[in-house]
Amino acid sequence: MSHLDFDILMISSFGITMKKSHAEGAAKIQDYLEKEKNTPLNIAITGETGSGKSTFVNAFRGIDNIDKRAAPTGCVETTMEVTPYPHPKHPNVTVWDLPGVGTTKFPADKYLENVGFEKFDFFIIISDTRFRENDFYFVRSKIDNDLQAEGKSQREFDAERTLKLIKENCIQGLQNEGVLSPQVFLVSSFELHLYDFHLLHETLERELPAHKRNALLLAMPNINLEIINKKKEALQAKIKYYASVSALIASAPVAGLSFATDVTILAETIRMYQVTFGLDCESLENLARTARVPLNDLKEVMTSPLAAKEISKDLVIKLLCLSAGEAALMAAEEGSRFSPLIGFPLAMTFSFISTYRALSTFLNMLAEDAHRVFTKALGLNTSL
Ligand code: GDP
Repeated sequence: MSHLDFDILMISSFGITMKKSHAEGAAKIQDYLEKEKNTPLNIAITGETGSGKSTFVNAFRGIDNIDKRAAPTGCVETTMEVTPYPHPKHPNVTVWDLPGVGTTKFPADKYLENVGFEKFDFFIIISDTRFRENDFYFVRSKIDNDLQAEGKSQREFDAERTLKLIKENCIQGLQNEGVLSPQVFLVSSFELHLYDFHLLHETLERELPAHKRNALLLAMPNINLEIINKKKEALQAKIKYYASVSALIASAPVAGLSFATDVTILAETIRMYQVTFGLDCESLENLARTARVPLNDLKEVMTSPLAAKEISKDLVIKLLCLSAGEAALMAAEEGSRFSPLIGFPLAMTFSFISTYRALSTFLNMLAEDAHRVFTKALGLNTSL
């Protein structure tokens, strides 16, 4: 028996108990989903002034340096304050800009205490040269500059070899300072899809407690197709909960309530999918700007009816009506509600299936669009 079968059976058996327990069940699942969505993730970024810390803070949050929510970049002034930068699309994720160890008034061994280290899930240290102090994860920034400079100055330029040398040099520097196994990642904040940013993500994901992994994954910029696929899997795994909420609400003997709730659940969830895949209008504009691809070129490759649209309830209803099977299920659900003996369990089953199906379909569409947009933004030739 699949998970889905199990859920439907479970819900059908709920159907014979009191209505109150349905409402409680729906509320419990909604609480769980809400808690998931609100799992806090606090990422501390530190490094010396000029190292590219603020640019990295911005790139990590999917915005560029000219965005009004961007951490100020290119300043000569040193930040002495711990500054929070909420993720614009995932308010549960905050990237904290911490003053560099060497720039604070406190001695290095008091640094962690003074920045309030307990509140952070992990620390990333940025440096554009070599590292001096260790703890945590080391991001060697501006790698694009190094490669460009080497490319100009060497006759037989070998990017792989240059990258290897830079990494070895960083590791060596850290080992000289007594760090046993430093974790160094070579990154360009202007090209997150290149070099080691994906390795940084994999490492952070591995080392985070399980309940925080989704928060990191869903807030990650789309740096490769694999991330998009993983986001899709994570979102797919949650659909049964939304479907259960809609099934439990379908048991209420109020005409039209179930449909209205389903449409609300669908619209909210699709909006969250859109943002997670970076397909909302604002994210697309950002991507067009940073990838230097005309916005229309990105919009043109999207094939789903949700592409770059404001996800309103009306749009959801329109799309549901376009899908004959879906509309029939919803109608059957409304019709079956008042059949006194079997009405509730049947309505619940219809509601579960229709919500489950609709969300899976919309998720697939958006994931495919995300593939296409990513491929277009990078000028790749991969076709779906
Ligand atoms: P902060 O003082 O450490 O916050 O550094 P900023 O983020 O303000 O960056 C200092 C300068 O380095 C700015 O001119 C950035 O545009 C530039 N910069 C930052 N990251 C990169 C990168 O990955 N590649 C290149 N080429 N330049 C970068």
